[in-house]
Amino acid sequence: MPMHEDIRNRSVQTDMFDVPAQNNVSDIPVHKNEEMDVEIVDIGIEGEGIGHTDGYTLFVKDAVPGDMVRVKVLKVKKNYAYARLLEILRPSKDRRVPRCSIAKQCGGCQLQHLAYDAQLKLKEHKVENCLKRIGGFYNVPIEPIMGMEMPFRYRNKAQFPVGKGNDGRPVVGFYAARTHNIMNVEDCWLQTEVNAEIMDKVRVYLEKYKVEPYDEGLHVGLMRHVLVRVGFQTGQIMVCFIVNGTSLPHQAELLDSLQSIQGMASICLNVNREKTNVILGRKTVTLWGKPYIVDAIGDTRFHISPISFYQVNPVQTAKLYEKVLQFAELVTENEIVWDLYCGIGTIALYLARKAKFVFGVEVVKQAVRDARENARLNDVANVEFLEGAAEELLPRMFQEKKEQLRADVVIVDPPRKGCDESLLKK
Ligand code: SAH
Repeated sequence: MPMHEDIRNRSVQTDMFDVPAQNNVSDIPVHKNEEMDVEIVDIGIEGEGIGHTDGYTLFVKDAVPGDMVRVKVLKVKKNYAYARLLEILRPSKDRRVPRCSIAKQCGGCQLQHLAYDAQLKLKEHKVENCLKRIGGFYNVPIEPIMGMEMPFRYRNKAQFPVGKGNDGRPVVGFYAARTHNIMNVEDCWLQTEVNAEIMDKVRVYLEKYKVEPYDEGLHVGLMRHVLVRVGFQTGQIMVCFIVNGTSLPHQAELLDSLQSIQGMASICLNVNREKTNVILGRKTVTLWGKPYIVDAIGDTRFHISPISFYQVNPVQTAKLYEKVLQFAELVTENEIVWDLYCGIGTIALYLARKAKFVFGVEVVKQAVRDARENARLNDVANVEFLEGAAEELLPRMFQEKKEQLRADVVIVDPPRKGCDESLLKK
């Protein structure tokens, strides 16, 4: 189901865009192929501009709030229509020329044509809307988002899908907007420069040794994704090939070419033979170097495996963890802290120096192993990492050891689906 169909079918979300109540088909004030001028007043969840005509909503890709645009109606629905941007009649003061030459086609970025401070305002507004309209919380103070100074080249992780172009040659890059067609990406402004070099070498390898890219539709072919991680403080690089198989042909030649890149520390292979759009499979083997790379946030060092979660924006992570420390108000150094959904223990270890004891809870076995290793690496003894689902483990432990356990501060940093309700109740 396309994203908008889904939104239109849910009244809460519909509210967010102030879409008027149901129209009768005969009331619809626009028709297919009609051209009109419209002012963009809002932005949708995929970054598309939203305008209204006679109280009826138009979604216009690549238009930003404040733009006056000429559009052509493409697809008409009962309560809204999609329209194509024909001409910008008067640009918004927040409109910018995207830094990336393929920003429009590529599915990676949606907001490059919007000034960064306007992007932050937009996101702030979205958080506020969710709290109010979905959560029903009207009196929550919303602080401004702490943005970046240089919001480019900040990502320490990339997952590039591999496929075949129309000419049959291998492509390694990103999905084009709203499709699963892969575009070759020479260099991406969100990633480090070394990614371009790695992608180049991978393309050469695929072509030279006729290694078949994976075909999602047919579930055939070998190479699915290339994952790259870079430790920003240490310069260490990890490349992990995700394959629909158990080995790579001409592996020695591939390793040889990648090893020559400065900083290369780990080359791994991850086996994913499932017909799924989940990127990583369960099994990972190290082909060369270490099974992890080392990176640091502030003075705390971390071992990071291919499948473990690690925050992707190291500059903002340092700010975020400093905020966590501040909000935790560890003033007596006698506090017991629980870091739920702790990943490789980054927050737990960051706070341990100010707390009496920190418990970390994490469901991924390898991440728990990494977390324990990271405690050793940093000489932190007042932490314990527990493996399990937070919503099961926490209630069970507090049931069993009621007397001995205490929680002065609880930190939750769950994945996108959020915390389980039973955990929140506990
Ligand atoms: N706080 C960490 C990790 C946050 S990402 C950091 O800042 O780096 C969320 C983590 O929650 C992931 O490591 C994921 O594996 C883990 N996770 C997902 N579901 C979980 C559950 N039910 N119980 C515990 N951990 C879970």
